[in-house]
Amino acid sequence: MEKLTDIGVIKALMKKHGFEFLKGLGQNFLINPSVCPKIAEQGNAKKGFGIIEIGTGIGVLTAELAKRADKVVAIEIDDRLVPILEDTLSEFENVKIINEDVLKTDLSKIIDENFKGLDVAVCANLPYYITSPVIMKLLESRLRIKSVTVMVQKEAGKRLCADMGTRDMGAVTVAVNYFSKPKILFDVSRGNFIPSPNVDSCVVRFDIKEETPKGVEDEKFFFKVARGAFSQRRKTLANSVSSALAIEKSIVLRSLEQSGLAVNVRPEQLSMEEIINFSNVLKNLRDL
Ligand code: SAM
Repeated sequence: MEKLTDIGVIKALMKKHGFEFLKGLGQNFLINPSVCPKIAEQGNAKKGFGIIEIGTGIGVLTAELAKRADKVVAIEIDDRLVPILEDTLSEFENVKIINEDVLKTDLSKIIDENFKGLDVAVCANLPYYITSPVIMKLLESRLRIKSVTVMVQKEAGKRLCADMGTRDMGAVTVAVNYFSKPKILFDVSRGNFIPSPNVDSCVVRFDIKEETPKGVEDEKFFFKVARGAFSQRRKTLANSVSSALAIEKSIVLRSLEQSGLAVNVRPEQLSMEEIINFSNVLKNLRDL
């Protein structure tokens, strides 16, 4: 197999297939040969596992996953890459390419149809313009997966993996911690891609929890509160939640009091248990 991180090889493939990078699809391809093996090894690509990859590019990570896992199903939106992948991945019989938008793909069906008897993990160098929706889809769909290991923008990685109750956290931190144990694995600087993006990256892994936190009375409302809480970053929890959820401020203040929280508490000061408790109380008082 040709070295798919070699710029000369990439340029020759592009010329042969008349391919040009599309910035709008987040097409920044990895050119450092040590990164993809690390993602594969730390992302559960091993015997007994089926891997879902999102965004193949020319197949540089796909190949490393296929060498290690039993099967790889890779979802790529850009049909111009399909003939290139037929070239670059021809030696692998355990790879299936699905030419679709991941946000419109039925991932649970993919798992049922392709990974019977296998554990499942997701690995990807994500297109950054859809980082949050993809991660939320992977987590909220309660798929039968053990882990999600993805390259994201460094800033996004910091937010995703922030500890609860710290300045870096946001609504997405609440969701990530609800469904998984997040961890930053390693940094990847912008010079490791062609074309080089304007930001540095990092690889994060979410180990999916077998059970989500107990005590949430209404999960949909809990996530509404979490999103509302962080909708206006410099405001207090009371002001943000009251305006985002259109609930009278007096009800929100009473809920804070009954949950044992200060009236001027800020959302980034809350633990998971405190958000759960507050959302339960708020829902009950609102519905009175
Ligand atoms: N895995 C390759 C690598 O590491 O070099 C390419 C990664 S590149 C950052 C992101 C890839 O995701 C591109 O190939 C792009 O075409 C693809 N992509 C963008 N939007 C997508 C979507 N909605 N669904 C599936 N693939 C998408």
